[in-house]
Amino acid sequence: MTYQALQIEKDDAGYRCTLQTLDDSALPEGDVTVQVDYSTVNYKDGLAITGKSPVVRKFPLTPGIDLAGTVTESQHPLFKAGDQVVLNGWGVGESHSGGLAQKARLKGDWLVKLPAAFTPRQAMAIGTAGYTAMLCVMALQKHGVTPASGDILVTGAGGGVGSVAIALLAKLGYRVVASTGRLQEADYLRQLGAADVMDRAELSAPGKPLAKERWAGVVDTVGSHTLANACASTKYGGVVTACGLAQGMDFPSSVAPFILRGVTLAGIDSVMAPRAVREAAWARLAQDLDTAQLERMTREVGLADAIGLGAEILAGQVRGRVVVKISDVI
Ligand code: NDP
Repeated sequence: MTYQALQIEKDDAGYRCTLQTLDDSALPEGDVTVQVDYSTVNYKDGLAITGKSPVVRKFPLTPGIDLAGTVTESQHPLFKAGDQVVLNGWGVGESHSGGLAQKARLKGDWLVKLPAAFTPRQAMAIGTAGYTAMLCVMALQKHGVTPASGDILVTGAGGGVGSVAIALLAKLGYRVVASTGRLQEADYLRQLGAADVMDRAELSAPGKPLAKERWAGVVDTVGSHTLANACASTKYGGVVTACGLAQGMDFPSSVAPFILRGVTLAGIDSVMAPRAVREAAWARLAQDLDTAQLERMTREVGLADAIGLGAEILAGQVRGRVVVKISDVI
C-alpha cells in the first residue's frame, strides 16, 4: 500500500520538501494509524518546510504538526477504527512524521477525540494556532483578567494565533486592540472583533523599561522588543501571555514591569500540554469560538500547495488560518 505525503529530506543535495508517493513501510512506529482528512500550515510548519530554523530533528520526515482524521487501526485502549481524532504537537512534524500526508501513524496517547462541535476541517482551521490562542485566553482568565479589567492587546493580529485570539476575546466581551504590520487588513481585524487596530511599528523598536499603562492583558505571538514593550505598557496587576517569536526569540526587557507593577508573564506551550489541558482547551473552543468567524479567517489549499505556504507564512503574508485538504491528492 502507498500514500501521498510531503517529505523533507536533507543530504548532500541540500534541504528540500517535496510531494512524494511513499510505501506504508515509511510510516513510523505507533499504536494508532489515521487516515488524514485535513491538516494545516502553522508558523512552525513554515520553519520545517523551508528549513529556516532547525525544528526538524530527523530525516526524512513528513511535516505537519496538526492533523484531523479517522482511525483505521488501533492497538490503543482509548481509540478504535472509525473514531475521528485530532492531533496537535507532541513533536509530531518535528521528530515524528506528521499530518501533511494521507496517512499518519502515531501514539494514541497523543490523540484527542474530535470534539462533537467541530468537523475535521473546522478542527484544522483552529489547529495548533487556534488551540494556542485558547490557552492564552484561559491563562488571562486564570490570572483574573475580566472584560472589566481593560483593553487586551493582541500582537501578530493578522496571523493564525492572533486572528483566533481576537475572535475568542471579542466573543467573551473583552475590548481588543489588534497590533498588525498590515494596516490594510484593519477591516478584517475589526470584523473579527477588534475594537481598535494599531501599527505594530509602535511596539517593535527598543523601548523604555516602563511606559504608559495601557493593557489589562496581552496575547503576544511576536516576542522580542514587542513583548518587552507590551510588558512595559501593561497596567498594574495585568497579565501578559507569551506564546510566539515571529519577531524574534529574544526578550530585551527589564524586571521593572514585574517588580513595580506586579505584572504577570505567563508562558504558553501547546506542544507538551497534558491531555487534560488539551481537552479543556478544545471544550472551551467549542463553547467560545464563533464558527462563522472561524470560516472568515480560513482559506483552503491542497497538499502540494502547502510547500509554497511555508515561505509565505514566515514572511508574514498568510492572513488568518490555512487548512490543507488532504483528500484532494487522492
Ligand atoms: P502566523 O505567521 O500566522 O502569525 C504571525 C504574525 O506575526 C504574522 O501574521 C504577522 O502579523 C506578525 N509578524 C510576522 N513577522 C513579524 C515581525 N518581524 N515583527 C512583528 N510581527 C511580525 O503564525 P502563527 O499564528 O501560526 O504563530 C504565531 C507565533 O506563535 C509563531 O512564532 C509560532 O511559532 C508561535 N506559536 C507558539 C505555540 C506555542 O505552543 N507556544 C503554538 C503555536 C504558535 P501582522 O502582519 O498582523 O503584524
